[in-house]
Amino acid sequence: MKKTKVFILLLVALLIFPAISAAKSLVVIGWDGAGSRNVIPMLQAGKLPGLQSILDAGGVFCDIETINKTVTVPTWTLMFTSLDSSQTGVTTNRNTRQKIPIEDIITNPIRNSGYLIGWFVAKDFLWNNSPLKKIMSNVDAGGLFTAVDNAGACLDNSVTDINQRAVQFIMDNRGKDFFLFVHIGPDCYGHGHGENSERYLYEFVRSDEVVQNILAVIDFDTRIMVVNDHGFDEGASDHQSAPDLWMVTDLLIKEIYHNGETRGTVRDIPLTIWDFFGVYGWRDNPSKYRGKSMLIIE
Ligand SMILES: [Zn+2]
Repeated sequence: MKKTKVFILLLVALLIFPAISAAKSLVVIGWDGAGSRNVIPMLQAGKLPGLQSILDAGGVFCDIETINKTVTVPTWTLMFTSLDSSQTGVTTNRNTRQKIPIEDIITNPIRNSGYLIGWFVAKDFLWNNSPLKKIMSNVDAGGLFTAVDNAGACLDNSVTDINQRAVQFIMDNRGKDFFLFVHIGPDCYGHGHGENSERYLYEFVRSDEVVQNILAVIDFDTRIMVVNDHGFDEGASDHQSAPDLWMVTDLLIKEIYHNGETRGTVRDIPLTIWDFFGVYGWRDNPSKYRGKSMLIIE
């Protein structure tokens, strides 16, 4: 066969099967302590243009049900394992010494499938002082950019540092396929100033700027998901009972999850992410993986 003919056939194949050439990358941005009770009115007031642009481009807003205490450590552990407190022993924020084996952490089968992992976080709960600590040795790039100093003061630089490193990761890996997790959010200012305070809500705006900056550099084919772990008690500086969880994403989510018919749970989110990356092993073990994927599989 002539070289030109081979070339034309290849070109036709690429046009027919665009999925073969398309990048398959996902950026998950976690907004720690950013409840939907604050996010929804801010969206309606036009104060979160990053989230709004995901929705305007065909993305969806989903209410998410939580199945454990509305605190940080158990929720992110659930978010990144799909295993609940009875399975992991992680029930409260004090259970940081519990260790999850790497095989049970979301990143492991994704990385084993050939995807790069980026993991830039603002809390040691998600890095060295964590049930998820094994992630530290299972990423291609990552690190802790602490949001709180030893005296409990909020550090403004962490969000800009994480933003810069996340953008760098995307630029460095252009054309490659990756799973990038970025952890920021208003949690520290919620504890310091209280829910509904100006400073707490301003941190939503800064978190939204990170979404905008990431949207500005990702490829057309890279998908995005923004999620939180808990909100704040109304007018208070704690989150004893703040189950207002949500997800904004441009993944293809089944309609029942965004038309008000039913809610996905935190346990469903990692299964949804695994489905996106074509990691289906969890389906063979329904007694262990008790959630459902929210994704429409093409
Ligand atoms: Zn939290």
